[in-house]
Amino acid sequence: TDIQELLLSRIRDVADYPEPGVMFKDITPLLADPAAFTALTDAFAEIATRTGATKVVGLEARGFILGAPVALRAGLGFIPVRKAGKLPGATLSQAYDLEYGSAEIEVHAEDLAAGDRVLIVDDVLATGGTAEASIQLIQRAGARVAGVAVLMELGFLPGRRRLEAALDGAPLESL
Ligand code: 5GP
Repeated sequence: TDIQELLLSRIRDVADYPEPGVMFKDITPLLADPAAFTALTDAFAEIATRTGATKVVGLEARGFILGAPVALRAGLGFIPVRKAGKLPGATLSQAYDLEYGSAEIEVHAEDLAAGDRVLIVDDVLATGGTAEASIQLIQRAGARVAGVAVLMELGFLPGRRRLEAALDGAPLESL
């Protein structure tokens, strides 16, 4: 579609970042273009409304930039999922494996309640590890996942397949 063409034209491929052999998808040109950023926000907000989301969760750090305007546009609250050690209040934590080592993400326990339906927003789905851990975190908080919305998924990685079981029928939408 025209919107997909616009979004794609504002993503920059950076070779060998953050390490040799990796082609990094840089979204900063998209953020700098208000027409593209608005189109992205509108598309995500439509997903939030269509899936019956009651909250928007953004994943640190680019998910914060993309998710906050989506929450406002959809008339929903925004909740940050952060790397461990950054949130001041009582948190729930979820560890997950990286290629080398592991990582941990957290959410304020009081930000999610039973009955909430959460749309998870991030820029890129790669291996799916971050998104899968986020789904587990949201479910452990007693809430349900309405869906996962990403700007792009790297189709040569098994992210979508990895999320399938955790999503339990909820949609994974990549623009
Ligand atoms: P995963 O956990 O799916 O392997 O990696 C996804 C996370 O890493 C996302 O939070 C995403 O922001 C980041 N990420 C991985 N690869 C890229 C990339 O090429 N470009 C950008 N912008 N983020 C990436």
